[in-house]
Amino acid sequence: MDTILDRPIQYLPGIGQKRAETLAAEIGVETFGDLLMHIPFRYVDRSKIYPIAQLNDEMATQFVQVRARVVDMGIIGHGPKARLSLVVSDDTGEMEVVWFRGVRYVMKKLEVGREYIFFGRPTMFNGTPNMVHPEFEPPIVVEGQEPVGMQGIYSTTERLSSMGLGTRAIYNAMRTLWGVVKDNIPETLPSYLLASEGLVTRAQALHDIHFPASAEALNAAMRRLKFEELFVIQLQLLGQRRVRTEKSQGYLMPKIGGYFNMFYHENLPFALTAAQQRVVKEIRGDMISGHQMNRLMQGDVGSGKTIVALLCVLIAADNGFQSAIMAPTEILATQHYRSIVEMVETTGLKVELLTGSTRKKKREEIAEGLLSGEINLLIGTHALIEDGVQFSRLGFVVIDEQHRFGVMQRAKLRLKNQEMPPHVLVMTATPIPRTLAMTLYGDLDVSVIDELPPGRKPIHTSHARESHRLRLFGFLREQIERGRQVYIVYPLIQESEKMDVANLEAGAEVIAREFPPPKYTSVVVHGKMPAKLKDYGMELFKEGKAQILISTTVIEVGVNVPNATVMVIESAERFGLSQLHQLRGRVGRGGEQSYCILMTGDKLTTEARHRMEAMVSTTDGFRLSELDLQLRGAGDIDGTAQSGQGIEIKVSNLAKDGEILEYARSVAEGVLAEDPALAEERNALLREALERLGRQKKVELDLSQIS
Ligand code: ADP
Ligand code: MG
Repeated sequence: MDTILDRPIQYLPGIGQKRAETLAAEIGVETFGDLLMHIPFRYVDRSKIYPIAQLNDEMATQFVQVRARVVDMGIIGHGPKARLSLVVSDDTGEMEVVWFRGVRYVMKKLEVGREYIFFGRPTMFNGTPNMVHPEFEPPIVVEGQEPVGMQGIYSTTERLSSMGLGTRAIYNAMRTLWGVVKDNIPETLPSYLLASEGLVTRAQALHDIHFPASAEALNAAMRRLKFEELFVIQLQLLGQRRVRTEKSQGYLMPKIGGYFNMFYHENLPFALTAAQQRVVKEIRGDMISGHQMNRLMQGDVGSGKTIVALLCVLIAADNGFQSAIMAPTEILATQHYRSIVEMVETTGLKVELLTGSTRKKKREEIAEGLLSGEINLLIGTHALIEDGVQFSRLGFVVIDEQHRFGVMQRAKLRLKNQEMPPHVLVMTATPIPRTLAMTLYGDLDVSVIDELPPGRKPIHTSHARESHRLRLFGFLREQIERGRQVYIVYPLIQESEKMDVANLEAGAEVIAREFPPPKYTSVVVHGKMPAKLKDYGMELFKEGKAQILISTTVIEVGVNVPNATVMVIESAERFGLSQLHQLRGRVGRGGEQSYCILMTGDKLTTEARHRMEAMVSTTDGFRLSELDLQLRGAGDIDGTAQSGQGIEIKVSNLAKDGEILEYARSVAEGVLAEDPALAEERNALLREALERLGRQKKVELDLSQIS
């Protein structure tokens, strides 16, 4: 059923076809309803006029209004470089106003001697205030527009501005739109919820978010829209989880038998931390619940997730089930394979490794062993989910470093057992702040290993620049003298891969010169090398035959060399906080004091500097991920983020709206507790809301993008 809100935006007076196309292309606004949801990212007090004399440098980031008379106006320069320059003045001083684009168009609208209100961001130039491309209008109340206190600032783009759709023009379009749609805004939340949660109606909220009469009205509007957005998502996630836990059947694995006991009592190389014990119990609870497990195990790098997974693999084997562990890279899969084989050797557990480079003959052998049930545990990369790989009784699946895998791949792995889906344990070292976890993984159960094995010394982190390089080399020599090993990591991003590899190779040459053989051995490892060479290099380093490992981020995940105590990260400003933290986690694994050195260029953006400061100030991954979210949240103008369900979050800001998210979740829990299927008449609107959500374009979430 089409409503006025579905009407194409080109039919809004003043828009037309051309602007409509640009609106769609630039900010995704196609309909009246879309424009209505283009909400301001900020508000300014339009009733306040600043005297020119009060303008100063600190205002450069904010919008202000100046009421001033045009004293002089003229075009300076010519051709494409021509600019329009105005001198305007009020009783307190003079200001220069400049346009670089639309020069003639603007000039026609202005008159020397007349007074205007200029609205823009002031900067100071040689002590004189300056405003570039302000919006302006004569100081009269336009008919139909009440004098406004707060006015929304709408995000726009260069292209839209050049077509006459700057923030002020969008505001005016919104005015027009509101006149057309105001009596046709359907309510989307049940009235009983509006009453119990003290929310304003949707129509009221949309009016007040665009045209707030007061700060209170604006707050009430925000609260209503954010609540609704987060509430509906939580309703969906909790609903899915309910279906899964109540309807889905899962294998029962009640037995604790020979594999587990033999390992736990005789081969366990250390005592489990309390957190590890707790998580093993939580997983075991799922294994005997009769429902399929879908659990996320979160634990900082080095917190010991592998052993937890392995203990559960042994329980599965005790109950006659096969397990699979899927890792994101061949190096990591191989490492898991080796360390696990070593640990379980005496228990008789049959473990195999399957990766892209497994030979055909071996593959066939594995295929047979899987079908006969002889293989208890298969470890591998994506190769595990290829169609040819078939298990006889797959009961437990572990996915390491979840953010490297898409949702689709996870689903595919789950289908490896036609009879009943196996239990799934997803492990991630990406510490996700609580608010984000609730949105991303609201449909999963979450276990957290919030404790590191005893005896670890906090890693000492410092930030250094090129001028410190000689000192750095001296420090590395000192560490190597003591028998320690060093990682040097270079960034690698696809777009500039060639240059990055070149940087790495140049760096490796410098190292080879500074640390010459035979006294020193350094190895280079990167993703573009043949697997054989890569493995050989890694092997030298692991065995302590090489003291320096120079690599791209291939070693980012999972590599474990306890004797390595120094992590040097080159061009550290190019890494995100979470990546830096992951890399740092490669050291500090033994009993020795470890170090992380962040090398950066001299010039850093404010944001990059904050990242370095954050790294230096804490080693707590959860704290860092919260800082990360804040840093990004702050730079993220409209707070748009994608939830794990591929739903766009338009109004809320996950970095800041944690409280309202938790609240919305608890209300959603309450609603579902009373009416699990939302079948009651009073929840009809909620059913519709979920249907709308389901129709939204799904975007595959790539956690590596947010982490
Ligand atoms: P991650 O959670 O990063 O995957 P790992 O499972 O690789 O961590 O464990 C990191 C290191 O800590 C390994 O060398 C592992 O053997 C060791 N480890 C794990 N649990 C404990 C423990 N309870 N006590 C001591 N060392 C442990
Ligand atoms: Mg790991």
